[in-house]
Amino acid sequence: MSMLENIMSIKSNIGEDITLVAVSKTKPLEDIKEAYNLGIRDFGENKVQELVYKMDNICYDDIKWHLIGHLQRNKVKYIVGRVYLIHSLDNIGLLEEIEKQYKNKNEIAQVLIQINIGKEESKSGVYVENLEELIEACESCSNVKVKGLMTIIPKGDDESCRKHFKETKKIFDNLKERKFKNLEMKYLSMGMTGDYKIAVEEGANVIRIGQGIFGKRDYNVNA
Ligand SMILES: *Cc1c(COP(=O)(O)O)cnc(C)c1O
Repeated sequence: MSMLENIMSIKSNIGEDITLVAVSKTKPLEDIKEAYNLGIRDFGENKVQELVYKMDNICYDDIKWHLIGHLQRNKVKYIVGRVYLIHSLDNIGLLEEIEKQYKNKNEIAQVLIQINIGKEESKSGVYVENLEELIEACESCSNVKVKGLMTIIPKGDDESCRKHFKETKKIFDNLKERKFKNLEMKYLSMGMTGDYKIAVEEGANVIRIGQGIFGKRDYNVNA
């Protein structure tokens, strides 16, 4: 299928109020431009170096860049004031670095807290039992605003996917009922090419789709 057909097909499966983040990692600039010309404005990258390269070389001013991958503290300085949303806040050390770097440049960081809902050691994300501590730390920041939650669920069948999405939505809803200074539960980022329909059924309002838009990734070429 063409990129246009891919995008049309995804859009026909989701509501207007759902943000489709096109995950362009490993894909060339031309692919991003093509998607832009087909109406996509939100693009996701998982590596800071590749994200910065693409931000430097694609200069449409209404693009929203999303950092969806693990963020190392020493890379924060490269993205200050340049991304719309960081999806991967998962520890206090990283939070402190974001606060410091953004404060220095008088910018506000919009972030999602990434939850490791399946407790997989190989994945980033805060464990649920450590969430409260991270939230407290966020509340004492001045230049970081939490806008919601993100999760990457373990591989599994539809039933297992649904269970993890439901659990994440429950945490999202519980936080939504509380009053915070720096936290607002606006975005729930969950669902990728293989499971986004289930994610949307379970309450996601941001989905991150790579191969379902751009086709298979070849890590040997551009990664
Ligand atoms: C690569 C990636 C995606 C997109 O995965 P696809 O299966 O290609 O849709 C979504 N989220 C994150 C965090 C990713 O790294």
